[in-house]
Amino acid sequence: MDLTLHAALSAQAARRPERIAVHCQDRTVTYAELYARALRTAAALHEAGVRPGDRVAHLARDSEHYYVLLFACAMAGAVLVPVNWRLGGEEIEHILRDSGARLLFADTAHDGIPTVPPGWAEAAGEPPRFEATADTPVVQIYTSGTTGLPKGVVLAHRTFFAVRAALDSEGLDWIDWRDDDISLICVPGFHVGGLWWAAQGFAAGVTNVVMPAFTGGTAVELVRTHRATTTCVVPAMLQMMLSESPEDPASLRSLRKVVYGGAPISETLLRQGLDRIGADFAQIYGLTETGNTACCLPPSEHVPGSPRLAAAGRPYPGFAVRITDERGAPLPVGEVGEVRLRTGARMLGYHGRPEATEETLQDGWIVTGDAGYLDEEGYLYLCDRIKDTIIVAGENVYPAAVENALAAHPAVREAAAVAVPDERWGEAVHAFVVLEPGAAATPRELMLALRGRLADFQLPAGYTFVPSLPRNASGKILRRELRQPYWVDRQRQVN
Ligand code: ATP
Repeated sequence: MDLTLHAALSAQAARRPERIAVHCQDRTVTYAELYARALRTAAALHEAGVRPGDRVAHLARDSEHYYVLLFACAMAGAVLVPVNWRLGGEEIEHILRDSGARLLFADTAHDGIPTVPPGWAEAAGEPPRFEATADTPVVQIYTSGTTGLPKGVVLAHRTFFAVRAALDSEGLDWIDWRDDDISLICVPGFHVGGLWWAAQGFAAGVTNVVMPAFTGGTAVELVRTHRATTTCVVPAMLQMMLSESPEDPASLRSLRKVVYGGAPISETLLRQGLDRIGADFAQIYGLTETGNTACCLPPSEHVPGSPRLAAAGRPYPGFAVRITDERGAPLPVGEVGEVRLRTGARMLGYHGRPEATEETLQDGWIVTGDAGYLDEEGYLYLCDRIKDTIIVAGENVYPAAVENALAAHPAVREAAAVAVPDERWGEAVHAFVVLEPGAAATPRELMLALRGRLADFQLPAGYTFVPSLPRNASGKILRRELRQPYWVDRQRQVN
């Protein structure tokens, strides 16, 4: 078992040196080249004064250079800090300061931000040997901040191997890599989901197709031209890919496995994906703090019509999930409470924030902030983020339930439900709705359609039709942004 990222790369460079490791636009890098370039870059990092434990930031669109830098940092014992290039200047500055990065690699789109000296490149020779273990920190990923100022989640090499090790221990293999797989990396590499997926592909020695920035059209085109066999997406990406290929249902058919997660998926979208792509689907659930996925709903549970399709999955062997009340006491099967996860892939902690680490990492469990319940067989059903729960006259309304019901209406493309203040009930549900192009619907029509599907207290009290929903880089709806204008002059109990 490879327990460090660079050992995994080294093994593949020896096993299949000529295999293309990264394909980005019209450029290719083989496994042998990737390994050699990473070694030279590690030597250059050392020459530039980077020492084990130092932070090295990357602020650029995804490319083969990003992965060279990842493996170079691993070899040099440095910690890579990938910065979300979509963020505004203030947040970027926060991340650069907070991480204390010694070096910054930035592309020309980020002119004006101090960068490495021009002409700085790979050095000749080998870097000094650094003995990393599975527990050595290797990346520091800032959570995309749907709930506040980004915190740096420090992850060790182990994060990228724990799921595979857990599955191997039971002879299970839902990712089921094949030597001729072509893996499309859709989720950006500054997000744990993208980096984790890329690491799985590199460790398996397959070809990884990298795109500088995701669009549905680009992803469909890359699947078509490369005959991609597998990919990992957030639901919003799946939606965009399906709507970019309506006239050619065969265009996504080379995919044999689609892994999805990172945000709730509507039943309608999942059904469309299964029908149109015809691949094996697997859902993953987790947080940056759990080192990406801690639970999985494997392809075998994706049976059309099965109630299991509503589950987020079950923990991998040796991982665990627990539902608790606010004080951390376990709740019985079927009862909704806070989800806590125990995983071998979890973070070492938040960079420089011992108090926040203690709040989130309690006795080896990650406190997720998600509400959910377990069934008798240990499958986890997510309700929603606790902070997004709408409390109508003491009853909990989970936005995902309302959004799912709205998305089932043929005129609705997508929807978001948020809490707004209500004189009588404390809070009421307000729905933001994006209609399908050319479709029309009135609030009254939507309300009548929802009547049979939702309880009265779950029905939206108001509707706003919008051209699109605000989302973060990992495709999550920014409900806080939608909610905020309604709460300017009062305090929400849960905020
Ligand atoms: P922040 O941590 O600052 O709020 P973020 O929401 O982008 O930012 P991530 O670690 O990227 O942080 O996201 C983790 C959250 O994503 C989980 O807590 C959960 O709410 C949601 N999530 C992840 N996977 C799934 C899934 N399969 N189904 C539903 N929700 C999911």
